[in-house]
Amino acid sequence: MLAHLLAEQGVECVVLERQTREYVERRVRAGLLEHRTVGLLERHGLAERLRARGQVHRGVELRFAGRRLRIPYAELYGGRHMWVYAQQELVADLIRLWIARGGAIEFEAEVSGLSGLDGERPEIRYTRAGNAERLACDFVAGCDGWHGPSRSAVPAGALRLHDHRLPFAWVGVLAQVAPSTEEIIYAHHERGFAGHMLRSDTVSRFYLQTEPDDPIERWPDARIWDELQRRLAVSDGWKLREGPVLEKSVTDMRSNVVEPMQFGRLYLAGDAAHIVPPTGAKGLNLAVSDARVLAEALAARCKRGDSAPLEAYSATCLRRVWVVQAFSLWMTWLIHRLPPDTPELALRTQLQRAQLELLSHSRAAAAAFAESYVGFEEL
Ligand SMILES: Cc1cc2nc3c(=O)[nH]c(=O)nc-3n(C[C@H](O)[C@H](O)[C@H](O)COP(=O)(O)OP(=O)(O)OC[C@H]3O[C@@H](n4cnc5c(N)ncnc54)[C@H](O)[C@@H]3O)c2cc1C
Repeated sequence: MLAHLLAEQGVECVVLERQTREYVERRVRAGLLEHRTVGLLERHGLAERLRARGQVHRGVELRFAGRRLRIPYAELYGGRHMWVYAQQELVADLIRLWIARGGAIEFEAEVSGLSGLDGERPEIRYTRAGNAERLACDFVAGCDGWHGPSRSAVPAGALRLHDHRLPFAWVGVLAQVAPSTEEIIYAHHERGFAGHMLRSDTVSRFYLQTEPDDPIERWPDARIWDELQRRLAVSDGWKLREGPVLEKSVTDMRSNVVEPMQFGRLYLAGDAAHIVPPTGAKGLNLAVSDARVLAEALAARCKRGDSAPLEAYSATCLRRVWVVQAFSLWMTWLIHRLPPDTPELALRTQLQRAQLELLSHSRAAAAAFAESYVGFEEL
């Protein structure tokens, strides 16, 4: 995304990716795109396939105590809707269009280190087809995820790390089955959270709360369907369709932020700088938002000699990052079963229910949820 935005402004760049093209085009992850994310893709001619194949969503369903609560976010937030479109499809679109536009991208190019970040001409070391390569550049955009090499190239003490591990994990399931719902469902249940997400007419995504470090071997398919049936149940006769499980894995939940998101000529973007718990479906959207800010700032510097937006890059991004962290954490603690060792467990569980009741009775509370869930246009 960043490469597209830069190239459009005449800033030359090279994308280095350690995986194969096939791998990144099949890697299953996010699927819910904010109104603002899709608007950016559209403005840059990157959303044609998304518009043809993605699904427009206007509301979300919360379930608790066997009841359903629909939050009609589009109606509550000026008609802004969201799109369901799998992340790997979007990645495939961006790669195809980048190559068609003559963009430079190297796959199976594993970056091993960065040097000279505080000088005029940083250098990236990487390996490709067994050969050690070097790339000298003016700026480095570290878009290599939380475990990538960019952030670790920054000298100790130069960045402040906020690292919060949550007492929750999700069993993520991809199943060959038509969705049993037209809108995403988040269910708060005494056995733990369950989510029914959408991907396509024939494939659905589900999540089940479990404990961190729970091995996936403890989740045979029969147990997955049994738990989904129980946790998603409502009293009005709704039925959950079952089908073959295509993929399943356990993901622990973290809330991480690094400050500032820059060091010398290195600018961190997306998961390399922050991880949000997946509950609010914000990780991909935040990464795209960083890309937008960084592209504008780099273009200002490279094309007009104006360094101010680049100097403000971290502060500009972090305003949104912290607001999104706050919402994602709030929603995570609202919708999950609290760990048994939580102090005043009974009281806190009642408070969770009370907040869900408030969402169902207060239009103002539902509208505040809608704004955060759909994503603020400006921040
Ligand atoms: C299982 C799962 C489910 C998720 N569900 C959602 C969701 O529902 N909604 C949502 O918004 N977000 C979700 N996310 C988060 C979302 O996928 C991320 O926030 C998003 O991918 C961040 O984009 P990014 O470009 O910063 O990082 P990535 O997409 O991780 O891209 C980083 C790239 O850097 C490459 N790389 C890493 N190391 C190197 C190296 N040494 N050399 C070269 N290349 C390297 C990686 O191969 C990768 O392609 C999910 C994530 C996971 C793992």
